[in-house]
Amino acid sequence: MTKVIDCVAIGEEIMGEIQSETKALRDKGITPGIATLLVGDDFGSKMYRGQVEKFCEEAGFNYVNKTLPADATEEQVKEAVEELNNDKEVSGILPLRPFPEHISDYAVINTIDVGKDIDCFHPFNMGQLTLGEATFPPATPAACIEILERYARDEEKVDPKDFFEGAEIVVVGHSNTVGKPTALLALNRNATTSVVHVFTSMKGNLEKHTTGADILIVAAGKADLIGPEHVKEGAIVVDVGINRVKVYDEKGEPVLNDKGKQKTKTVGDVSFDAVKDKTRAITPVPKGVGSVTNRMLMKNALKACKLHYGIE
Ligand code: NAD
Repeated sequence: MTKVIDCVAIGEEIMGEIQSETKALRDKGITPGIATLLVGDDFGSKMYRGQVEKFCEEAGFNYVNKTLPADATEEQVKEAVEELNNDKEVSGILPLRPFPEHISDYAVINTIDVGKDIDCFHPFNMGQLTLGEATFPPATPAACIEILERYARDEEKVDPKDFFEGAEIVVVGHSNTVGKPTALLALNRNATTSVVHVFTSMKGNLEKHTTGADILIVAAGKADLIGPEHVKEGAIVVDVGINRVKVYDEKGEPVLNDKGKQKTKTVGDVSFDAVKDKTRAITPVPKGVGSVTNRMLMKNALKACKLHYGIE
């Protein structure tokens, strides 16, 4: 029987843990906090900023909104980062990208205090991740691993350590923000880890690799990239992809909304209905990995706060 992993419940469970840890810190007079840094008014970034603010409020964190106009100079953006580095209310800084073209990502990210770099953007923290040392694992990759660890513990009743050791894990996607760090987190848990990407597909080799996976983690941003032919019987599939697609009926006709426009919906990279029954467990989209991602960011902010105050 396939288990559709309830990522929303996992997200809520983690939030409960964060709330009780935050309460214990606040009882000591310490409040963790997150600052977002937005330059300009990118729509997606503003949506994300709103979510972070809401979660901070729910958890009992401080929230600092640092927004600069789109024509701010790189020097002004770096000064804003320095201010946040020195702000005692802020345990973690989240730069909301994309920045305007004249601002170098690299220059801004290198200015962030490595102890406040809660989404692992700084090369120092990426280096720590590569070396398998303690760091702030980036939120989305950390969410994939957390979902798998809780699934192993709660559903398969196995120690998450044993679950990962020697498991054949294939990650589809090799971006610096999702695919690569996800593979590193799996490798650091001693999984036999492979990474496949667009060039693997271009050589016609995607299926050859993905069908060997006990655990398949897909982060490509391509709807229906993964069908049943790509998945081993009994595999566990984590679908990170978020894609907006048009809706058609059974006859292939467009389904229209009240305004006569074609309806759209959010799907992952995996053809969920076609693949589901072949798997042992699978995450859905929507209400999948994204339900856990922000929580991992908050866990990192909590960790940054505790490290700052020398609390175990
Ligand atoms: P990206 O565009 O930076 O990278 C995409 C990766 O997929 C690349 O490594 C590319 O080589 C690979 N790829 C593209 N086409 C492929 C193909 N045909 N076959 C095999 N590999 C292919 O994207 P990203 O930032 O890594 O994000 C990936 C997906 O994850 C996107 O859909 C994004 O929206 C989603 N995402 C979800 C969350 C979440 O919380 N759920 C967070 C971040 C990103």
